Amino acid sequence: MKHHQYLPLAAATLLLAGCGTNLLSRNEEIQVGKEGARGIEQKYRLSTNQADNALVQRIGNRLTSANNLSDWPWTFKVIDDPMVNAVSLPGGPIYVFRGLLDATNRNESELAGIIGHEIAHIEKRHAAKQYSNQVVAGTIISVGTGGSVQTAAQIANLFIQLEYSRGDEYEADSAAIAYMHRAGYDPYGLVRFFEKLMAMQKEGRGNVITNNLRTHPLTSARIERAKAEIARITEAISRDNEALDMIRTE
Ligand SMILES: [Zn+2]
Repeated sequence: MKHHQYLPLAAATLLLAGCGTNLLSRNEEIQVGKEGARGIEQKYRLSTNQADNALVQRIGNRLTSANNLSDWPWTFKVIDDPMVNAVSLPGGPIYVFRGLLDATNRNESELAGIIGHEIAHIEKRHAAKQYSNQVVAGTIISVGTGGSVQTAAQIANLFIQLEYSRGDEYEADSAAIAYMHRAGYDPYGLVRFFEKLMAMQKEGRGNVITNNLRTHPLTSARIERAKAEIARITEAISRDNEALDMIRTE
């Protein structure tokens, strides 16, 4: 029998009250994510393609180590499934679907855009805002009271279907752009990936794009916003460099 940690009763009571954000401690979030990861790995088959796994891990590690991110136990895995999808769970687990690798032709900057976006959801603890939702609260509480196979599956489904607010999506895009820039990736990779998804939808191939990428509001407005954000971040950095040059030449 597996050992399970339990949410303190006080946390469960707060969850039932359905208020506020960050009701779970970091360790509790990590536990929810681990339980959800177990469910995802029961639901889907992990890819055994070493090159694909190494690619996704390399990008994830480069983004997290270049950005002084919180010390979450990050994991980056590939799911052997043709859907164009990526899923993040609280506390560190990130899954990239083989269909997404195919859609990007394994282009590193495009993948860094979407992996950076998922990293941002975890780092900014966006899932915590959903804990006031009754379904989420109920499932999270059941982790504290047993952690059966069923709850692992429920948590997995919850995060596969989770819809973040537009504000959180925009915040994750902005963070992804900054992460990419600092890690030495071309931030336009994110824009190119969005444009590919839009093209797929226009060509009637949108059915392979899963809900959680499609419902991330994928609009021209979102793409224009990402472009403006790239300009803002790269300008800010070149201004810093100019200032440094002036200091150096003085
Ligand atoms: Zn998102």
